[in-house]
Amino acid sequence: MDFIKKLTALKDAGLYRQRRTISTAQEREVILDGKKVLLFSSNNYLGIGAESFFVQHVVEAIGVYGTGAGGSRLTTGNSALHMDLESTLAQFKKTEACLTFTSGYTANVGTVSAIGDTETVIFSDALNHASLIDGCRLARGRVVIYAHGDVDDLLLKIREHRPQKGLLVTDSVFSMDGDLAPMSELVEIAHEHDMLLMVDDAHATGVLGATGRGSLEHFALGAQAVDVLMGTLSKALSSEGGFVCGSEALCDYLRHTARSFVYTTAPSPGNVAASLAALEYLDTHPERVQQLQKNNAYFADALNALGIHANAETPIFPVLIGNEEEAMRISDVFLQQDIFVPCIRYPTVAKGKARLRFTLMATHTRQDIDRVLDVLKECIQRYEKCFYM
Ligand SMILES: *Cc1c(COP(=O)(O)O)cnc(C)c1O
Repeated sequence: MDFIKKLTALKDAGLYRQRRTISTAQEREVILDGKKVLLFSSNNYLGIGAESFFVQHVVEAIGVYGTGAGGSRLTTGNSALHMDLESTLAQFKKTEACLTFTSGYTANVGTVSAIGDTETVIFSDALNHASLIDGCRLARGRVVIYAHGDVDDLLLKIREHRPQKGLLVTDSVFSMDGDLAPMSELVEIAHEHDMLLMVDDAHATGVLGATGRGSLEHFALGAQAVDVLMGTLSKALSSEGGFVCGSEALCDYLRHTARSFVYTTAPSPGNVAASLAALEYLDTHPERVQQLQKNNAYFADALNALGIHANAETPIFPVLIGNEEEAMRISDVFLQQDIFVPCIRYPTVAKGKARLRFTLMATHTRQDIDRVLDVLKECIQRYEKCFYM
């Protein structure tokens, strides 16, 4: 393969990615390539993780367990810390059991491929996260994509395929659009058609609901409404690792069949300790979640006033530009004003749907948010034609 030629083609299409380097903790303000900037694109929504409370937990755990887990969970890698994290997560999500993975990506790939056997038809939302898509690609069953958030299209496709066994898979919060799945309808449809429902709460955990428990709390649904409740520890919880919550039988089955669980080293003790610290913090600081939600509402109101459609329910605010190079240019204007908001391009989103994806943190101040809005107003004046409004 001619790598240079392929890379040149990416550059020509405005799709080549530069790496920017951060040399501080992931907080509202960071040092980016040597310059102090406001960070408006992190998934560290609660702005936790660098505080001494967390650092102390991690250092203590490493003192006891060392740095590496030393083996797979099924051989020598399973520590008391891992067991503690799983029971804490099960309590947090109010399910019978939980199984943790090294990342949300491996949780999704392993879980969807383990459940989607040859008799299963998987129904997957068109804008599901890449890790769910890859899980579908590895599954032996048939995969049917339905239009994003479109319950009518889903029903049409269920009738068309009449599955013996069905698995309905959706993000609860869509990572690049910041909108929500029609959860209550999906729960009903899965129940009516006797299908399993799998929900990816990666951007909902620590974010949605009065105490940050995720999409079920937000939609006032019971834990039994969803069969497979997946989440990640790497976003609002400021650690690393993925998890699946559900019945004891589900978790036991995945423990034996999810290849990304079986054939990889257990999460490192430091990460597990950080996850436990984050869950403890969340339990005792619901005001952190509420502060994030206040910021979301404030930013959404201001964007709507500017004519940019925004949804106050999540901290993800895409501002659609469309053209890749124009989106890059506007992202650069922000950087010149010491605000870091990278532009999101193909293949993360469709071609011609490039966007700035602003994300908020609980620790952003009103002044921080107002600074962003000022630059945005300037950009809209200068480059009006670039914005979809
Ligand atoms: C980030 C993300 C994942 C993957 O989680 P990681 O822990 O980062 O591997 C899965 N699903 C969704 C919707 C995500 O946004």
